[in-house]
Amino acid sequence: MGIEAALPAEGFITTRLQKVINWARRSSVWPMPFATACCGIELMATASSRYDLARFGAEVMRFSPRQADLMLVAGRVSVKMMPVLQRIYQQMAEPKWVVSMGACASTGGVFDTYAVVQGIDQYIPVDVYVPGCPPRPETLIEGVMAIQRIIDNDQVPPTGPDGLRQPLGITVEPTYEPRPQPVRVDVGVN
Ligand code: SF4
Repeated sequence: MGIEAALPAEGFITTRLQKVINWARRSSVWPMPFATACCGIELMATASSRYDLARFGAEVMRFSPRQADLMLVAGRVSVKMMPVLQRIYQQMAEPKWVVSMGACASTGGVFDTYAVVQGIDQYIPVDVYVPGCPPRPETLIEGVMAIQRIIDNDQVPPTGPDGLRQPLGITVEPTYEPRPQPVRVDVGVN
């Protein structure tokens, strides 16, 4: 894996225990997918082989909130569905994180109606907003990496003076420039 090249000649390295713990935590963020609409398809693409969310240790989608620490809300959330989302969020163990994927989850998107929640951050604390309709997989991965950087820096989700969880409110900037897709793949014939 290339780690041999980074090792000194003696063959061992020293570090702090907390750094190893943070490395392990950030390399095993397990998402709880709350995918309700088209953004969910893009979430599936992010986990598939081309984008391979497994490279970031986050491919283990759990459908039990007690086994997940990253809630990925992908798609519009109706008013009727909001209590379910809140219940799942409450059942997840601390420390936990929330990513709001796409315009609908963050603002209601084009669904400016009485039946659709105009931003899930009105009800649960959102740590990372991933913009787009839908966001590209690279943008979602950038959102996951933002959470990883926070964990790497030894930070835990902040709480306010009232003891309630405070949102981090990080917004990923959509600066990714896509290349022509799909990239051509030639299979050699012997
Ligand atoms: S943001 Fe766009 S792609 Fe995502 S759920 Fe809404 S309409 Fe669908």
